[in-house]
Amino acid sequence: MQKLKLKDLDVRGKRVLMRVDFNVPMEKGKITDDSRIRAALPSIQYVLDHGGSLILMSHLGRPKGKPEKEFSLAGAAQRLSELLHMPVTMAPDCIGPEVAKMARQLKPKEILMLENLRFHSGEEAPDKDPDFVKQLASLGDCYVNDAFGTAHRAHASTAVIAQFFPNTSAMGFLIEKEIRELSPLLANPKRPFYAIIGGAKISTKLGVIKQLLSKVDALFIGGGMFYPFLKADGVAVGASICEDPAQIKDLPKDKFRFPKDLVIADRFANDAHVKTILVQEGIPPGWQGMDIGPQTVQAWSKELQQASTVFWNGPLGVFEMPRFASGTQQIAECLAQGRAKTIVGGGDSVAAIEQMGLQTKFTHLSTGGGASLEFLEFGHLPGIDVLTNR
Ligand code: AMP
Repeated sequence: MQKLKLKDLDVRGKRVLMRVDFNVPMEKGKITDDSRIRAALPSIQYVLDHGGSLILMSHLGRPKGKPEKEFSLAGAAQRLSELLHMPVTMAPDCIGPEVAKMARQLKPKEILMLENLRFHSGEEAPDKDPDFVKQLASLGDCYVNDAFGTAHRAHASTAVIAQFFPNTSAMGFLIEKEIRELSPLLANPKRPFYAIIGGAKISTKLGVIKQLLSKVDALFIGGGMFYPFLKADGVAVGASICEDPAQIKDLPKDKFRFPKDLVIADRFANDAHVKTILVQEGIPPGWQGMDIGPQTVQAWSKELQQASTVFWNGPLGVFEMPRFASGTQQIAECLAQGRAKTIVGGGDSVAAIEQMGLQTKFTHLSTGGGASLEFLEFGHLPGIDVLTNR
């Protein structure tokens, strides 16, 4: 179903209530990476350029339904103001009479940033507090969702609020771009089409793995995802992160590519004793698999060079520790050098690519890890389904 887009809305003189994803990483009160704020700039700029005013709403971190200073969005408002070279007014809350007054008084081309939506439990549990979403909706004349990173959550500001704007709920440019880049993977991707899935726990990605198996020519499994497969084959996994192998027992194995060798360590630490083993040797007691090995990198790179389309989600080892980042980095290098269309599904794999400065060498780095996986699994997302049909 085609959904209304920001450009379909007449925003002139309107108060545009826009859900953005300003859930930025912070350290000691400072934003360490502002890419999520930058990603929302095209939609924000469009509204300003077309004579609308903006009421921006987002969550930040995981406050437990009440105000917590460390999760204030004031820092994000400040950063946005620097990026736009214009004032951004910070509201003391996201609902309530004072905020409603500030929203009413907003003039065209002005911006009001609401305080963290998760300071109210009604954001994540909209059924329990229907008044919360009603109050939020009353702030704007139309609604734009541009928070792809939370579009898989059926929260007040992402899914429930749209019913208050039956004819004027639209997707912003960021969501539009994400859908444009991800949809072809479900339709008719250019072949060979390969997927690479890494990360910690297979249970979190089982649904998308099943879905991808029906689409791809091969699926490469690395990171902690691999150990249940190894255990199921009766090979010792030592102290590796390893979920119940029963989960993967019924998966058809013909399209999988598994590691041939592994970098293992005697502790979960960068300065641990390390050795490389062939998979069939098994992992000794007390040792754990930390990365894919050099033979795996070589074999996978050779096959990945033939790809026309690649989808990648999840690091292939404990890439946060430099000694176990090599597999992830070398596969990233291989994809960066190749000619395939490369789509990376959010989170840690995007972080690894950005750390290496390779972001311009990829076709699309998704801003939503969970959202991109759910979109590929189900073909739609709650935060998009509710928007006005075109
Ligand atoms: P995910 O959110 O599922 O993509 O998982 C990302 C996390 O998986 C990262 O923090 C990695 O350090 C972790 N990871 C990847 N490979 C391994 C491994 N072999 N053992 C433990 N953790 C791993």
